[in-house]
Amino acid sequence: MKCRQCQKSAVIKMERHNTSLCGGCFNLYVHDQVDRAITENKMFDHGEQILVAISGGKDSLALWDVLIKLNYRTVGLHLNLGIGDYSERSQKKVEAFAASRGVELIVHAYQEAYGLGVIEIAEETARPACSACGTMKRYHFNRIAMERGFPVVATGHNLDDEASRLLGNVLQWQEEYLEKQSPVLSDEGGTWARKVKPLFRLAEREIAAYSILNRIDYIVDECPMSKGAKMLLYKDVLNRLEEASPGTKHKFYLGFLKRQRSMPTAPTVSKPADLHPCPSCGQPTQGAVCSFCRLMQRVAP
Ligand code: SF4
Ligand code: ZN
Repeated sequence: MKCRQCQKSAVIKMERHNTSLCGGCFNLYVHDQVDRAITENKMFDHGEQILVAISGGKDSLALWDVLIKLNYRTVGLHLNLGIGDYSERSQKKVEAFAASRGVELIVHAYQEAYGLGVIEIAEETARPACSACGTMKRYHFNRIAMERGFPVVATGHNLDDEASRLLGNVLQWQEEYLEKQSPVLSDEGGTWARKVKPLFRLAEREIAAYSILNRIDYIVDECPMSKGAKMLLYKDVLNRLEEASPGTKHKFYLGFLKRQRSMPTAPTVSKPADLHPCPSCGQPTQGAVCSFCRLMQRVAP
């Protein structure tokens, strides 16, 4: 199998683009897809400092690697969720990556901050683990970015993540979520940090190939709480469709983004004007207290 660009020996075949690429041309392809996602969607520029959320998995570490190589100013943020050995190993991978690239890393550990990990917090509040985890992650990404002056938070969500999330939202007609499903969420005039997903044009297997090719040492295990998650079922369904008809995920998600611009605003989504500072933590909220403080109030003292 030869590289379609330079005729060297190819390392990856990409059915959806009907092409095969060697290592060098594949790296250029990945960098180009990320660069295109950033510039076409006005995610950030070289003058801004970007907080990159790093779990220790392949996607977030690959994102950090590409942003460093594209000369963006980045600082990593790792949330140690306190899920036993899994979280300890994840943090070690992130620290090793940061040290090898000489880049700054912020670590925030739930166990140290709250005396509990995410599973215990979920149990105490009778919430599903991933639901409590999502609330906590969104809160900390935003809070740490705002407190430290980062205008933007980048996460490693890829095409498979976004297409499967879209499938779930469509299957359940979650219109308010559909409206928010974009690779860029605005900062609403400085109320929040901007949220961006620069890997949304790249498939999961392309990011896995990039990580291996660039010797990125990531945590291979999935979070133990992800077992049985609906999102994995949607990914599996989309993978089967992709196999039968290459390009399905790309057409589904990017086609949605194209049409999204003409969608009417869902009436259920509250306007930022309804926001006020949470009386407990100061973060913007539409409720009496923010969802994170509401969660933590339910944790027994
Ligand atoms: Fe959090 Fe793990 Fe659930 Fe992901 S799978 S939301 S990391 S608890
Ligand atoms: Zn609060």
